[in-house]
Amino acid sequence: MIDYQAARLSMVDYQIARRGITELAVLEAMAAVPREEFVPKALRDRAYDDTALPIDNDQTISQPYIVALMTWAAELKGGHKVLEIGTGSGYAAAVMAKLAGHVITIERIASLAETARMRLQRLGYANIDVMSGDGSAGCEAEAPFDAILSAAGTRTVPPAWKEQLAIGGRLIMPLGPFGDQQLVKIVRTGKTDYTQKTLVAVRFVPLVGGTR
Ligand code: SAH
Repeated sequence: MIDYQAARLSMVDYQIARRGITELAVLEAMAAVPREEFVPKALRDRAYDDTALPIDNDQTISQPYIVALMTWAAELKGGHKVLEIGTGSGYAAAVMAKLAGHVITIERIASLAETARMRLQRLGYANIDVMSGDGSAGCEAEAPFDAILSAAGTRTVPPAWKEQLAIGGRLIMPLGPFGDQQLVKIVRTGKTDYTQKTLVAVRFVPLVGGTR
């Protein structure tokens, strides 16, 4: 029987902190979310491996380090409203929800959305709303967002995501053609002004539908 708590703390130390993410709140969030609850039963023993893992419907749960990096880059604080595109297992949303006030997450595949919704409810995450549908147009009704994080890549930035950022808001997403994606951080510095910087090369599934 694996000691998941010990495996989780070791993951936070070796995979996250030693790679340079030292912000305490992010490390605490990563140490608090039981990743073994978000992976398929057959892969539970690998929940703290330094890698993405397959989930249902040919999708993946992201590598822990990438979830930590995205969460850190998004500069989440209590009271912040966050939009995630690509709920998948719900793991990244759970990590974000430890730091932010309210997380709205959209998943295209209805059965994944339903499984994630039930899982997050069972684990007691009261500040996450899982929506089923296409997130490529963001979520106009709930905008503006302090941060938007996408777990699916596009070749160009969907305009709706930029428009739905609050001034000062951060958009963290994989950008570029499949096989050559970079994780980027876009900050809305004014009504029509944005800055963009590249964080690291990544490999995410492509966004389905909308802008690509
Ligand atoms: N954050 C997830 C990782 C999910 S992988 C986790 O922690 O487990 C990316 C997800 O994006 C997949 O589940 C895929 O179905 C979803 N996706 C792809 N295109 C989408 C779209 N247009 N709208 C919403 N979700 C989308």
